[in-house]
Amino acid sequence: MNLNTITSVKRPASVDDVGPWRDGYSWLAGGTWLFSEPQVAVDTLIDLDSLGWTPLAVTEAGLEIAATCRIVDLHKFKGPADWRAVPLFQNCIDAFLMSFKIWNAATVGGNVCMSLPAGAMVSLTAALEGVCTLWPRDGAPRQVPVVDFVTGNHQNVLQKGELLRSVLLPASALKKRYAMRQVSLTHLGRSAALIVGTVGDKGDDFLLTVTAATPRPFHFRFARVPSAAELRQAIDDLLPADAWFADVHGSAPYKRHVTHYLVEQIRAELA
Ligand SMILES: Cc1cc2nc3c(=O)[nH]c(=O)nc-3n(C[C@H](O)[C@H](O)[C@H](O)COP(=O)(O)OP(=O)(O)OC[C@H]3O[C@@H](n4cnc5c(N)ncnc54)[C@H](O)[C@@H]3O)c2cc1C
Repeated sequence: MNLNTITSVKRPASVDDVGPWRDGYSWLAGGTWLFSEPQVAVDTLIDLDSLGWTPLAVTEAGLEIAATCRIVDLHKFKGPADWRAVPLFQNCIDAFLMSFKIWNAATVGGNVCMSLPAGAMVSLTAALEGVCTLWPRDGAPRQVPVVDFVTGNHQNVLQKGELLRSVLLPASALKKRYAMRQVSLTHLGRSAALIVGTVGDKGDDFLLTVTAATPRPFHFRFARVPSAAELRQAIDDLLPADAWFADVHGSAPYKRHVTHYLVEQIRAELA
C-alpha cells in the first residue's frame, strides 16, 4: 500500500549521516511489513539497503548475518561441511507464512525486529544461540542474545532509534546436531509451535528452544539429553498455564499440548 504520511526517504551511506533521531523516523528494511498497513506516526523512512552491509560472512567465530540479509539469500547459504545445523535455515524459512514478495524482499533483521511469536527468523537465530549486535543512537554497540532480545509479542529491547546491525550464529552452535518440529492449526498457516533441539556430538550441551507457542522464545538447557520427565517438568516449571500465546492460530492449552508432544519427539530423536 502507499504510505501517504511519508514526506522523505533517506538513503544514507553510513548511519552517521542520519543525524539526531526524532519522532516520525523509521528504519526501512524490506518494507514488507511497513508497507502492509498505515504508518500514521511515520513521516521519514531511512533505507538500510544503502548502507551496503555484506549479507553473510563466515568467520572463525561463526556466521555473521547482517540485519539487511534477505530471507532468500539465507535460504541459499551453504556453510562449511561441519556446520551440521545449516539445513535448519531452510526448515525455518519454509515454516514462514509468506508470499513471493516477502520471500524476496524481507530481511532477517526486519523479521527479528518485528519480534512476532511466529517469527521464523527469531526461531532460527534463538535456536542457534544467536547474539544480536545493536547500535544505539548514542553510545557503544551492545550485544544481546536473541532469546533475550525478544521480550514479548511484537516487543523487544530496542531503544528509540536503535539499530539491529547483525546476528552472529556461533560456530559451536552451527556444529551441533538438531531436530526441529513445527505445527500450524491450518494448512500453510502461521506456526502454532516451532520447536528446535540441538545437541553436541557426545550427547552434551542439549538445548531446547520453544517458539511460536509462547509470546517470546524460551531456552531449556541441560548438560546432557534429559529424560522425558525432566524435560516436561522443566517446561511446566518455567511456563505456567498463562505463559502460552493464545491467538487465532491456537488456544493456549492447544499450544501447550502440541509443544509437549513435539518436544518429546525432538528429545527422543536427539537422545
Ligand atoms: C501477509 C503477511 C504475512 C506475514 N506472516 C508472517 C509470519 O508468518 N511470520 C512472521 O514472522 N512474520 C510474518 N509477517 C511479517 C514479517 O515479519 C515481515 O513482513 C518481515 O519479516 C519484515 O521484514 P522486512 O525486512 O520487510 O521489514 P520492514 O517491513 O522493513 O520492517 C519491519 C519493522 O522492523 C524495523 N526494522 C527493520 N530492520 C531493522 C533493523 N535492522 N534495526 C531496527 N529496526 C528495524 C522497521 O523499522 C519496522 O518497524 C507477515 C507479514 C505480512 C504482510
